[in-house]
Amino acid sequence: MATVFAPPPVPTVPVLGTASRFPVRRIYCVGRNYEEHAKEMGFAEREAPFFFLKPADALLPVEAGETARLPYPSLTHNLHHEVELVVAIGKGGRDIPAARALEHVYGYAVGLDMTRRDLQAEMKKQGRPWSIAKGFDHSAPIGPITPASEAGAVDQAALWLRVNGQQRQHSHVHKLIWNIAETLQHLSAAWELQPGDLVFTGTPEGVGAVVRGDRIEAGVDGLQPIALQVV
Ligand code: MN
Repeated sequence: MATVFAPPPVPTVPVLGTASRFPVRRIYCVGRNYEEHAKEMGFAEREAPFFFLKPADALLPVEAGETARLPYPSLTHNLHHEVELVVAIGKGGRDIPAARALEHVYGYAVGLDMTRRDLQAEMKKQGRPWSIAKGFDHSAPIGPITPASEAGAVDQAALWLRVNGQQRQHSHVHKLIWNIAETLQHLSAAWELQPGDLVFTGTPEGVGAVVRGDRIEAGVDGLQPIALQVV
C-alpha cells in the first residue's frame, strides 16, 4: 500500500523471557480506583469506574535493568507520579463478563500514569477534557510485561514507588475499588477490547511531584520493577 509518508512505528513493550515485543494499540486508564487516593483527591463516594485514554505513542518503554530518561514536560510546574498495575490484553472482546475477563489478559507490567496535576486541576475546574494533563508525550512509562502464567498472584501483590530512595506510594492491588476482572468488564462494555490494548488500573494514595534530577523507582511484587531519571 502506498502511503504519503512513512507510517509511524507501532509502539512496543518488552516481554520478559522473549525477544519478541508486545505491540500496543491503545492505552486505557482508570480514574480513582483506590479509596485512599480518591480521598486525597477530594472524593468520598464509591462510583462506577471511569476511563480516559493516552495516545499509544505516549508510552515510554523501560527496558529490564535500565534507567530510562523521563523528559520533564512543558506547561507544568506540578508533574505527579502515579504508580499503577498495567494489564496487557492478549485476546479481544466486548461485554466481557468479569468471570471470564482474566482469559483475555496476556500479562502484567508496572506503569506510571504521569500527570500534569496543575493542568488537570484547571481542566476539572472548567469541566474540560483531561488530555493535556494525562496524554502528553512520554506520559506513560511502562516496564517489561510478565506473561500472566508467570506473574503469580498480582491481585494480591504490593505496589510501591520511591523517589530518590524515599517511599512515596505503597499499597496492595487487592485494595482496588474495581478489581482487574471488574475493570475489564466495565471497560469492554464501552469499547471492544483488542490484542495490544493496555489498561492502567489506577493509583493508590501518596501521589506527589517530581522535578528534574529525581530518580523514580517503582514496582509491583512479582513483576519487573522500573527506574527512571527525570531530565
Ligand atoms: Mn492514574
